[in-house]
Amino acid sequence: MRIDILTLFPDMCNTVMQESIIGRAQKSGAITVCARNIRDYSKDKHHKVDDTPYGGGRGMLMMAPPIYDCYAAIAAQTEGLRRRVIYMSPKGRVLNHEIAMELSAYEHIIILCGHYEGVDQRALDLCIDREISIGDYVVTGGELPAMILADAVSRMLPGVLADEQGFIGESHYSSLLEYPQYTKPAVWHEREVPEVLSSGHHAKIEEWQREQSLERTFLRRPELLEKTELSEKDKKILAKIKEKHSMK
Ligand code: SAM
Repeated sequence: MRIDILTLFPDMCNTVMQESIIGRAQKSGAITVCARNIRDYSKDKHHKVDDTPYGGGRGMLMMAPPIYDCYAAIAAQTEGLRRRVIYMSPKGRVLNHEIAMELSAYEHIIILCGHYEGVDQRALDLCIDREISIGDYVVTGGELPAMILADAVSRMLPGVLADEQGFIGESHYSSLLEYPQYTKPAVWHEREVPEVLSSGHHAKIEEWQREQSLERTFLRRPELLEKTELSEKDKKILAKIKEKHSMK
């Protein structure tokens, strides 16, 4: 997959996306992430990219022409790729596992980062397929949100995680939250690792992990249980968990 991030701060994205797992995936060729400087597409002699909003109001807006020209140049270079163009925006649908999964099926993603008070609507109307938010709060620019999206999508692609199926069983994969995990030492600050995990009994370990997932989800994000496919056994476990917590 190729991901192009359209931004006024390309160094911010390049620095982060060259590190750790995403950096390694880029080196191995599993993904390519390019940060594009929108300012390079400004025709103004001072490379101006923002102006005051029509109708008044606070702050500055990013102008449509440099954004469109940056987008058009990339689209021309990548003709034929199955693509989605996204604007990171607090007004978009909130990012979740399903959206990341859906986007991982494309060959090319272009992500537009807003700044200041946002972007001239006409650039969005002409270039964008959908707006995605990282949550119901506002950050200063679209770069961090764009990198969150790029990371969440990339780790579902073959060759990105060391264990290609590594995301299976993680929180949100099946709508449940992941069970607690432990590593060495076996005893630390007088706290022991749950005995079952050292038993070598795989069926019992899986049963314990499922119970823990159900309990955590019930306590922390009960609404997720409504979109989880629960077996008859899960339902019985959940009933016990509910009883246990109603008695507390
Ligand atoms: N005036 C805008 C509003 O009220 O919706 C907020 C502009 S914000 C200061 C600047 C840029 O940061 C936005 O254009 C967007 O690209 C990005 N941004 C801010 N919060 C975001 C969020 N929750 N999710 C995704 N992008 C966000």
